[in-house]
Amino acid sequence: MTTIIQQEDFIASIADALQYISYYHPVDYIQALGRAYEAEKSAAAKDAIAQILTNSRLCAEGKRPLCQDTGIVVTFVKVGMQVSWASKLGSATLDIEQMVNEGVSRAYLLPDNKLRASIVADPAGKRTNTRDNTPAVVHVSLVAGDKVEVSIAAKGGGSENKAKLAMLNPNDSIVDWILNVVPQMGAGWCPPGMLGIGIGGTAEKAVLMAKEALMAPIDIDLLKAKGASNKLEELRLEIFEKVNNLGIGAQGLGGLATVLDVKILDYPTHAASLPVAIIPNCAATRHVHFELNGSGAAELEAPNLHDWPQVSWTPSENALHINLDMITKADIQTWQPGQTLLLSGKLLTGRDAAHKRIAIMLQKGEKLPVDFTNRFIYYVGPVDAVRDEAVGPAGPTTATRMDDYTEMMLGKLNLLGMVGKAERGDEAIKVIAKHKSVYLTAVGGAAYLVSKAIKKSQVLAFADLGMEAIHEFTVQDMPVTVAVDARGVSLHSTGPALWKEKIALDSIKIVAI
Ligand code: SF4
Repeated sequence: MTTIIQQEDFIASIADALQYISYYHPVDYIQALGRAYEAEKSAAAKDAIAQILTNSRLCAEGKRPLCQDTGIVVTFVKVGMQVSWASKLGSATLDIEQMVNEGVSRAYLLPDNKLRASIVADPAGKRTNTRDNTPAVVHVSLVAGDKVEVSIAAKGGGSENKAKLAMLNPNDSIVDWILNVVPQMGAGWCPPGMLGIGIGGTAEKAVLMAKEALMAPIDIDLLKAKGASNKLEELRLEIFEKVNNLGIGAQGLGGLATVLDVKILDYPTHAASLPVAIIPNCAATRHVHFELNGSGAAELEAPNLHDWPQVSWTPSENALHINLDMITKADIQTWQPGQTLLLSGKLLTGRDAAHKRIAIMLQKGEKLPVDFTNRFIYYVGPVDAVRDEAVGPAGPTTATRMDDYTEMMLGKLNLLGMVGKAERGDEAIKVIAKHKSVYLTAVGGAAYLVSKAIKKSQVLAFADLGMEAIHEFTVQDMPVTVAVDARGVSLHSTGPALWKEKIALDSIKIVAI
């Protein structure tokens, strides 16, 4: 019998699902993160996980985005062959991609919880923001049955940027390749998260499987308990253990929990080939699944917050209080990698587009609209404020993208220091040491918590760049960690190296997570 699905129900379900995942972590993820928190021995990593857990609860309560990067929408739509489409307004005229995009636009522009529009058209050219986060990436398959099944995710750019594909030789070791690749990914993917792995097929099939693998729930502890019963399960367990033994840890600060699960999908391949793709999922793991059977739009039940770990982050008593309005170059020389600071005062913002425009203006000899002398800049593109917020969720973006501008900012414009996410590249670290500057990190995936420390926000320049404009934030006790000190010592190198050694020495037993 044919099932009739109303296009309006499909669109409403997509819009609801995207709002839902913007503020509710999947319960399996948040509980796995809670177990990782309990097991973590590294103080810096434990503090970062506490921030992510606290952020998660605040977002669920406040219905505000888990991260300032509200993601690129990815959907897997499986349409039963006995499904036909109708519209309450007449004939069904939209194709599936158009319906998904209508749902995306509606969700991202919802006034009560407006989500950040991050999608740019003309990616190799003007990179113009499409303003409503469309289009989504839509994968449709026609399957047996009389239902429509949808898996939908909002994938963060920082984690998507770390995707890798290799066409291995059939006798190469998949595990060795992954253990080589994961440290190269750095911390810009905001661990702890998951690894999606696709093995076999062709190049594009492997990548697609890696992405679809991330839609499954975290259940590695069940697998550990029952033991592997096939090659893929063996691989999951081996990769999970060996990747965690790398000591990368939460936010790449060094620690026990780098991945909370490893998911693998496979497919037959050519006898000459072994395609392998890996895509990480970040601290803002956001996905949900629903079915439509013709009875109306999907109803997504709110999770029970009693299922959230009882963790409430507060700043360490040893944190150093810093007044950004009084700070001098001499003050920052004593800061140590790993030290926690609480920033108060005026903080500039800027990220990719602002840095590019500054460079062009300097080249043309134009006067800049902002004086960076003795200031700190925060690499962030915040979500728009709603209600009485000074600013929406405002976590850090990946700092390495600003590495090429570091000499310009420190040498020419006399910037004092930077705040961002994850490690800096070797060249940028040399520039930081040369100018006796510092680089601080905030926790990626704790954007709403961070935004609570921002009391005021105003745009100072480049308003046309939207979320990429230069803002001035007034912050109070904004938590950051010293990641590169004035001598050029990087916590993202020393932390993982230390924890890899500790784990190898078996001085700390990894508790099941
Ligand atoms: S948690 Fe990190 S990688 Fe994920 S969306 Fe947020 S900033 Fe991007």
